[in-house]
Amino acid sequence: MRSFDPFSLSAQTIAQNVNNGTWRVEDIAEYYLRRVSDIQSVFNSHVGWDRDIAKNELEKQIDFIRAARLAQKHLPLAGVPVAIKDNIMVEGQLVTCGSRLLQGHRAAYDATVIQRLKQAGALILGRTNMDEFGMGSTNEFSVYGPVLNPWNRHHVSGGSSGGSAVAVAADFAPVALGSDTGGSIRQPASFCGIWGLKPSYGRVSRYGLVAYASSLDQIGPMARSSADLALVLSVIGGHDPRDSSSHRHPEGHFPESLSKGPKSLQGQRIAIIKEFMKDGLVAEVREAFLSALEEYKSLGAEIVECSLPEIDLAIPTYYILATAEASSNLARFDGVRYGQRTQKTGVNLRELYMLSRAEGFGREVKQRIMLGTYVLSAGYYEAYYAKANRMRELLKRSINNIFAQGVSLIASPAAPSTAFELGQKTQDSLSMYLSDVYTIAANLAGIPALSHPIGLDSKGLPIGIQLMAPAFQEENLLRSASVYEQHSQWNERNRPRF
Ligand code: GLN
Repeated sequence: MRSFDPFSLSAQTIAQNVNNGTWRVEDIAEYYLRRVSDIQSVFNSHVGWDRDIAKNELEKQIDFIRAARLAQKHLPLAGVPVAIKDNIMVEGQLVTCGSRLLQGHRAAYDATVIQRLKQAGALILGRTNMDEFGMGSTNEFSVYGPVLNPWNRHHVSGGSSGGSAVAVAADFAPVALGSDTGGSIRQPASFCGIWGLKPSYGRVSRYGLVAYASSLDQIGPMARSSADLALVLSVIGGHDPRDSSSHRHPEGHFPESLSKGPKSLQGQRIAIIKEFMKDGLVAEVREAFLSALEEYKSLGAEIVECSLPEIDLAIPTYYILATAEASSNLARFDGVRYGQRTQKTGVNLRELYMLSRAEGFGREVKQRIMLGTYVLSAGYYEAYYAKANRMRELLKRSINNIFAQGVSLIASPAAPSTAFELGQKTQDSLSMYLSDVYTIAANLAGIPALSHPIGLDSKGLPIGIQLMAPAFQEENLLRSASVYEQHSQWNERNRPRF
């Protein structure tokens, strides 16, 4: 049996070597099954992990990949393990969204992204921990407990896709899927020193993703390089008739645009938003961000400053719209159609709903449902929900105006600080919400955004930069970041030690 070195395998190298017959898919599967089994509990990154069950679930897919190999059929993700956030459906597997309410719930079908991954030869390996229903920025609001950061276990992984970020950062899989409603891919990626991409709204099908806020949610890849993000995006993206918000935009050639595109940033104009550089931004993050921009500049990009005054209202806008949509989406979890039912007997139907929901949902989710119900209620709808929708349009328009002035990318830090200490923000919702300041604009505007590592702070915790691009410009977004990546070699130099 062939053995591999941790962190030595990328999705790209695995697919290449399995496709050309150099490596056996069984060896890859065995290596990762063992690695996850040995280490995942240290970080609490996976939910319901069982090695034997995981191994059984892979058997059919391994046969499929071997058959493709015999038929000399190229599979873009042949033998590539992909860890999946616990809110994306994989037929027959548990899907619990980090919630007590969904304990024991199994998916009846594959999400479109899972179907596409399977057809591309991927190994669906492990379900990853998350903040309950995607609500949170630290992964501390999960019924399974927090996910620990591989760079320092006293710190959070970020959230809500914390388990997926750690799965990649600790090499439990070269790539993972997360979901991003207000930053849940990009922020944990940044806290864990990896790459994360939120695609344009409508690029990736949401069919089979448990909805948090449907007008903001997107599934996206997390990886240790731009090339792997591009590879996974090319597989999961594209129109899907089963998602009415799925876009018919031509599919991108992401891996090709990285390998064949220009290797300089000549002609790229990168804007920084003046209002983003104000209070709340930690000095070390600010410095790292500015020096990364210098590197982008040295590679040929022009850096300009822009103003986006609407950004000051982005957080209230997001937290009104996201909670409003959540209160409606989560109404289906009533303990009858879905979810765990209260064990109390002798209750009427109304009490059954109330008790099941009271017992099943965690504190943060209840807070969001109440907020969302409030902003949608008669008398407040106009004052909050309708106003927030108008604000969203204004913000979107101003962002598009910036792009219309010849700006190809907008850069900001991915988060105002590095990973918080465990427990630091759990009692203070507002300060946790404020930490989403850089990421939510891309969701409100429906544009693609990625985060990638640029350095470490004095405590050795990763710092990330965020780049946003106009809608459906993922090719240029990924290519530009890859030019920086080749120059900085960050991934080669930095690894968490545990
Ligand atoms: N932290 C944000 C929230 O709690 C974003 C979460 C997400 O993107 N799922 O809503």
